[in-house]
Amino acid sequence: MSTIKPPTNNPLGRVMDEDLYRCVHCGLCLNVCPTYLETGLETESPRGRIALMKGLREGRIETSKRVVSHWDLCLGCRACEAACPSGVPYGRLIEGVREQVAKKGATSWRHRLVSAVLLRGLLPRLWALRLLVRMLRLYQRLGIQSIVRGSRVLKVLPGSVDRLERQLPRIPPQFFNVSPQVYSAMGTKRMRVGLLAGCVMPLVHGPTMEAAVRVLLRNGCEVVAPPGQGCCGALNLHSGEGAGARKMARRNIDVFLSAGVERVVVASAGCGSAMKEYDDLLKEDAEYSEKAKRLAEMTVDITEFLASLPLVQPRNRLDLRVTYQDACHLTHAQRISHAPRRLLEAITGLELVEMEDASRCCGAAGTYTITQREMSGQLLDSKMEAVLATGAEVVATANPGCALQLEAGLRLAGSDGRVCHVVDLLDEAYGREE
Ligand code: SF4
Ligand code: SF4
Repeated sequence: MSTIKPPTNNPLGRVMDEDLYRCVHCGLCLNVCPTYLETGLETESPRGRIALMKGLREGRIETSKRVVSHWDLCLGCRACEAACPSGVPYGRLIEGVREQVAKKGATSWRHRLVSAVLLRGLLPRLWALRLLVRMLRLYQRLGIQSIVRGSRVLKVLPGSVDRLERQLPRIPPQFFNVSPQVYSAMGTKRMRVGLLAGCVMPLVHGPTMEAAVRVLLRNGCEVVAPPGQGCCGALNLHSGEGAGARKMARRNIDVFLSAGVERVVVASAGCGSAMKEYDDLLKEDAEYSEKAKRLAEMTVDITEFLASLPLVQPRNRLDLRVTYQDACHLTHAQRISHAPRRLLEAITGLELVEMEDASRCCGAAGTYTITQREMSGQLLDSKMEAVLATGAEVVATANPGCALQLEAGLRLAGSDGRVCHVVDLLDEAYGREE
């Protein structure tokens, strides 16, 4: 532990000294850090970023643009946290630092733009996000996208706009809707569960949400996706918008605690990870701290939940070669890596082939694809090499952000492979049309 006495006025805001000074600079986390592995720079490693935090805490450095840029390049993937023998809660550190940097207005223009438009504009107003995605669907359905792509418009714009446009997901014809409807369990009812719909997933992966409902019903769950719920707040939290994240958390807590459910099932690793940590997010909130703890304890990832049941055996064969990409917020933050693989292995005919470094981040990381385009692209390219080397027809994952990034990667690589959530494959094996 450092012997330097930190100033009384903590320039790192919510970051706690007992978390920060747990790091002994051993460097055992370096070789799992994607940004360190790409750059070879200490300042782009977890140890380097923590050293910068300590420097600021002890008054040795300022919150300069350069210092902030090293924290900005961090994916928040938490691979370092899982590898750290000293138990440094890196996720909590970087979230606290980002909140403080945002309060001081020391973020980059891209971050400020994303915060204003997406985090403070669209996510708290899901009707507006829905409207935007509807317009995107029209852009694709009316053939405007093909015209734009075939013209030189994108070529005269900065390269990042071209790549961003080419990464747009294909918007499905139907959205998943929250409603007061109660879906009845098939066979003997085991329990009543609430399903988190979230923000982007019901719009761009509506069919996966429906698959999740059917798989839960097959396994004896009564399912509700209660209205009033909203974004879990993960994207805000990871980008330094702590106040917004806390507001979203309170709303979901109220909705799910009054829904009479035994578990809150989440089909998005990033959202599940954030909800399991609502107790930490709201620990200083006298009214909500206890309720947040209750909700955090009730929250389960859908793969973890299904693997904990005596799973109803899927009847149909799926003769598919599948590789599985670990979502960072499932494997590193929630420490769940066996459950999704066990579910895939329960499907007759399915051949699971491991890719190299399946637990290394694909470069999606929330808004990272917008704010750090170059590094995100580099990581996606490496991920695609690993995926294509397996010869798999399907890439399975358990997080919508990873799915969008992997879909874009396959398209950019000219592959006709597809990306599925684990529950999509289970649903297919159960015979989704029945
Ligand atoms: S974060 Fe953990 S593993 Fe990394 S340098 Fe610090 S103590 Fe070592
Ligand atoms: S969260 Fe990921 S990118 Fe950030 S320091 Fe840790 S391992 Fe590196």
